[in-house]
Amino acid sequence: MKNIISVDVEEYFHPTELEGCISAGRWTSLPSLVEPQTRQVLDLFSRHGVKATFFLLGWVAERHPKLVRDIAAAGHEIGCHSYAHRLIYTLTPAEFRDDTVRAIQAIEDACGVTPRAYRAPSYSVTAQSLWALEILVECGFTHDSSIYPISHDRYGIPEFGSRARTLWTPSGPLVEVPIATVKLSESRMAPVGGGGYLRLLPYRYTAAGIRRINRHEQPACIYFHPWELDPEQPRMARSWISRLRTYTGLTSMRSKVERLCTDFEFGPLTAVHPTPEPVDHPLTAVAAC
Ligand SMILES: [Zn+2]
Repeated sequence: MKNIISVDVEEYFHPTELEGCISAGRWTSLPSLVEPQTRQVLDLFSRHGVKATFFLLGWVAERHPKLVRDIAAAGHEIGCHSYAHRLIYTLTPAEFRDDTVRAIQAIEDACGVTPRAYRAPSYSVTAQSLWALEILVECGFTHDSSIYPISHDRYGIPEFGSRARTLWTPSGPLVEVPIATVKLSESRMAPVGGGGYLRLLPYRYTAAGIRRINRHEQPACIYFHPWELDPEQPRMARSWISRLRTYTGLTSMRSKVERLCTDFEFGPLTAVHPTPEPVDHPLTAVAAC
């Protein structure tokens, strides 16, 4: 069975964990590492013959158009990871639309590809921001992978469940592909899909989780960031919890991704989940889960 491997392409200073230490106004003054870090990921995928989905930050696409072109030329799917990595539930619908349109434009300008798959910064499509899915459809997206069906202090809709499904928004259908989880009990879901969990936990935990999901005839959606494969990156997070979440397991991450690519088959998100027939699953039902 083909699973999905996805890469959220952003700089080491973009994660939400670092928001309190580095304002967006300082981004342009910091050394850029996204290009060499992402090229290492491209090399790794090339050696294993893996095709992935790369969710690009518009801010990165504007500054590294050659990198974006090379990702597309290597046969990977081009997705969108917003423009400025702002959490959706902190934005108004108008601000979210502006950010999304700007990101699409930056990605199109860089590589000539219009992204059809979206991933929110820090999985910030929650029960409070489901309105964003309708805007994504209006912006031309057919797929979204922004719901992590777990409980977390910053994101998550645990009741969404582990299966991909077509949601019926007022503007049309959208295939929602949640990040991989396994069910521990009726009310508890365990994260499997990455990126911090892949770094923090032993490889066998992730591998066993993917196998369990596949036994139920479901593909697993896995993600990581290029900076997670770089143990030499500057350490900018301050609080102990942010340092734990951001920097633990960096040295073993590359070998874990290598093992994933050896042990499992992967494909791009929209190829693994081609748009199915629309299912009348209204967003209000998700919100009421
Ligand atoms: Zn991100």
